[in-house]
Amino acid sequence: MAEVLTVNEEEKRLIQNAYRDLLRSIKSEMTEEDRINIRQAYELAVQAHSEQRRKSGEPYILHPIAVAKICADEIGLGPTAVICALLHDVVEDTDVSLEDIRKKFGSRISKIVDGLTKLDSAYNAESPQAENFRKVLSTLVEDVRVVLIKMADRLHNMRTLGAMPRHKQLKIAAETSYVYAPLAHRLGLHNIKTEYLDLCMKITDPENYHEIARNLAETKRSREAYINEFISPLEGRLDEIGAPYHITGRPKSIYSIWNKIKNKKVPFDEVYDLFAVRIILDVPVDKEKLVCWQAYSIVTDVHTPIPERLKDWVTTPKSNGYESLHTTVIGPKGRYVEVQIRSTRMDEIAERGYAAHWKYKGVSRHPDVYERWLDSVREILENPNSDAVEFLGDFRANNLFNEEVFVYTPQGDMRILPKGATALDFAFGIHSDVGYHCSAIKVNNKMVPMGYKLRNGDQVYIITNKNQKPSEDWLKMVVTGKARSKIRSAMKDERRRKGEIWKEALERKLNGMKVDFDKSVDLLVKNYDMESHADLYYAIATGEVTIPEIFKSYKVELGKDGSRYLVEVEEPVVIQPVPEPKPRKQRKPKFTGKPRLLINGEPAERFNYTFASCCNPVQGDDIFAYLTANAGLKIHRANCPNATNLMANYGYRVMKAEWISTTDTTFVADLRITGIDDGPGIIERLTNKISTMLGLNIRSFNIAGHEGYFEGRMSLLVKNTDQLNMAIRALKNLDSVSTVTRIE
Ligand code: MN
Repeated sequence: MAEVLTVNEEEKRLIQNAYRDLLRSIKSEMTEEDRINIRQAYELAVQAHSEQRRKSGEPYILHPIAVAKICADEIGLGPTAVICALLHDVVEDTDVSLEDIRKKFGSRISKIVDGLTKLDSAYNAESPQAENFRKVLSTLVEDVRVVLIKMADRLHNMRTLGAMPRHKQLKIAAETSYVYAPLAHRLGLHNIKTEYLDLCMKITDPENYHEIARNLAETKRSREAYINEFISPLEGRLDEIGAPYHITGRPKSIYSIWNKIKNKKVPFDEVYDLFAVRIILDVPVDKEKLVCWQAYSIVTDVHTPIPERLKDWVTTPKSNGYESLHTTVIGPKGRYVEVQIRSTRMDEIAERGYAAHWKYKGVSRHPDVYERWLDSVREILENPNSDAVEFLGDFRANNLFNEEVFVYTPQGDMRILPKGATALDFAFGIHSDVGYHCSAIKVNNKMVPMGYKLRNGDQVYIITNKNQKPSEDWLKMVVTGKARSKIRSAMKDERRRKGEIWKEALERKLNGMKVDFDKSVDLLVKNYDMESHADLYYAIATGEVTIPEIFKSYKVELGKDGSRYLVEVEEPVVIQPVPEPKPRKQRKPKFTGKPRLLINGEPAERFNYTFASCCNPVQGDDIFAYLTANAGLKIHRANCPNATNLMANYGYRVMKAEWISTTDTTFVADLRITGIDDGPGIIERLTNKISTMLGLNIRSFNIAGHEGYFEGRMSLLVKNTDQLNMAIRALKNLDSVSTVTRIE
């Protein structure tokens, strides 16, 4: 290369090593041409990015190399994806054009790079992230590789987020957990999804993340000993099958352990299923099902199964392609252990999903779940009606994370719907016309309401009537994006239809006055503060506005050029008496005096801000500011349950906020305390600890006992997180207390 690189010798070596490492990680067969193309893409990228560095200070080129390596190594993609990953930031950030790439590497590669570039650009819609997501989906249906490479790009950015300012970290983490993790889940990229969620938690909730990581490390030995004790009696027996196999026992992700702790409200030591045992059998496709059940039979001979925990995704895979046989058995010491049984092929699909699916295309015993899903995505995208935020919400709710229910048509055909779907969703799933005209529904031969929630195995029979029409309240009875968008567009059509005759009536009237129709209607729509002509006609149809009423306040004026137009009749000016100021209800102050904050680096006093009541931040908490539509700025905790949604959908309204210096301000923090109810002294011991020993004020305290346990809620006044943590530790140290958690 002729260009002089602005990197030093050591960095040059680093780059070359990274590149060599990348080449070694490509698993698929490569032709000589592939090798040459990869080399050329690498050289082009090195040259194009030679002047750039990442936030961390390292040469920029290390990023595309790392992304390419994730594509090859962790997603299992081939040379084409490696080339595109190397080039993914070239068009956006440097002088190289798409045309240059097309000339050098052909149109297939330039198309993918174009998709990747488009995904990164255009941030201007009302909710850029939602708009961006729609874009992700459009490129997804064109070439799934675009999105797979984007996933790798996002993963590397998440792994190296440390160099970014805090508020950017939070924004990126929110978008990752809101959009990319669900999409990775839907595409079956299990490992990537898991790492996304762990990395997000590390950013939004570092305290709990590190605590669990530490706990996992400390209990590693005893856990491994336990896994061995569980596995060894199985090994001899599994040999009987006569197929190669291997067993692993791996801890679950930190994020999923944290979810268990939160949902079951138990401390770390009481989460027993910290790991899952996996048996992977290397057998040909036609033997898979039989051999998996053989292994199941052996496992349940050795360890007692819990029948209701058996899940058979071998016979019927999940809609994201996942195939596996799961069971929970009672292991040594009476602990529950989850066992996953699958073939090598199923395992690869389970870990790498769509990417592995290419390898096994046409091999699986099941219809192509991805193609079917992509078709449904195409269908949603083709619907022009929904606005971006609505669309993203619908899409997430129905297509990404949810489990599904399996139901049947009267002919016995199976249909898969997201969990929580209703009988009316089913009708729209069959055909939009069946949905529109659905008048009654029978499930398992009994009449049910349209909003009936489907259950596995239900047989659903839809009765239609051509006079039936969707109504507004149908929206409350469906959950699938398809049904919602179909009902919404039917409602729109209905409004239009109802308004049509009034449009004609208005037109006659205006023609009679010899004024321009469109201009006059524009004026009316504006003055009535409506959105469209159709809204005005519909308002007339419903009687909200009447034609005589309209023409009471308008008259015709003559323009200089002889044109006739409508103007509003000026009303006499009436001087309104100044209204008495309403006595404002005094709200109990959450804190005394304003604490000192910086918002976007400026003293917070310049802004109109309040503390969000959903998460009650305390001085020292990790926080951000959110610009609400009409209540000024709200300060939230970074791990507020609403934070992800706000940042992912309205990232542009999020501002950086930070505490400055300590003040005497006090904050309210709510704690949930559970423990063993060992007599009447408990309330006194808890309050004594807090008020006498720590000198903190308790604002309120409720406690309820049942069957030897108690659960209490304590509202404390604290100055900062240090005080709060001290209080939590002190309470935890009491003998009868088992958990103390801050209520989010
Ligand atoms: Mn990138």
